Amino acid sequence: MVVVMRPGATEADVQHVVCLVREFGMKEHLIYGTDRVVIACIGDKRMVDKQAIENAPMVEKIVPILAPYKLASVEVKSTKTIVEIGPQRLPIGGQRIAVIAGPCAVEGRDQLLRIAQAVAKAGCVGLRGGAFKPRTSPYTFQGLGEEALKILAEARQLTGLAIVTEVTGLEHLDICLEYADVLQIGARNMQHYPLLEAVGRSGRPVLLKRGMSAQLDEFLLAAEYIISAGNPNVILCERGIRTFEQYVRNTLALAIVPELAVRTHLPVIVDPSHGTGHAHLVPAMCRAAVAAGADGLIIECHFDPEHAASDGAQCIRPDVLAAEMQVLRRIAQAIGRQL
Ligand code: PEP
Ligand code: MN
Repeated sequence: MVVVMRPGATEADVQHVVCLVREFGMKEHLIYGTDRVVIACIGDKRMVDKQAIENAPMVEKIVPILAPYKLASVEVKSTKTIVEIGPQRLPIGGQRIAVIAGPCAVEGRDQLLRIAQAVAKAGCVGLRGGAFKPRTSPYTFQGLGEEALKILAEARQLTGLAIVTEVTGLEHLDICLEYADVLQIGARNMQHYPLLEAVGRSGRPVLLKRGMSAQLDEFLLAAEYIISAGNPNVILCERGIRTFEQYVRNTLALAIVPELAVRTHLPVIVDPSHGTGHAHLVPAMCRAAVAAGADGLIIECHFDPEHAASDGAQCIRPDVLAAEMQVLRRIAQAIGRQL
């Protein structure tokens, strides 16, 4: 349930309600809006004496939250969340559409610094690059680990781009926190609940990918784990789901973009690379995603896709990225946004 305070309620009024909420065995989350404070109460509401809270000073009303996810729901927070990333605190979720690009994996210093400069020049806000790779086969390239993280940090220094990298397990969280601006939780880990709680406790922006067989509610409940652990900085990412179709690696379910917009305040970005598996399909899906209302894109990009250590088939070249940014800019304009 949500306790909506009247405009002008003081911090003492809010804290009084917080005490009541705790007395009834629930946990509170405070959301400060422009003219009022709402207190989201999470826990077993059967134990709560609603009347007691309703009668507290400056309480306007109590509203039940119907969705299974609570803190991620528009029922709790109707204004859109803007997540600021990287050294320049660039916003994801506002008017401006944000593009993150880079290779699937960091393969070496020269490779990464060169692509980082191209990504920055194209007008992107973030640089992606896996240090720990969740590969289907244990015999394929697994990532350079900490060496890759150090190279990513050097690329940030050089370009100012925000560094996005995947945390594949709890044992890598501390080292990723030393270097990364955004912690990516991969599709395979969307339901790794202890990891979601741990990145939640860290407070660092999280890019949460949709599990390849996850339904919308499961996706938002995964986000709920992160927010309820204390971290509101969650960016959702649609990256395609597993279907019977085989001409694509995954089926990019773009209808989830406008559907999420009516259910959650969290920013939503789209990954057309894993969402298709083929470089020639990526530009069209970038355009469709922006037109559908996505707050951003995460795109795999490589100077030499044919020799990429992972996911070369879906990597676009930097000149394609740069040209695509121009097209996306016009689409953004047409729908009243910028890029
Ligand atoms: C990736 O971004 O390189 C990746 C492994 O993505 P996903 O978790 O969506 O498969
Ligand atoms: Mn990849």
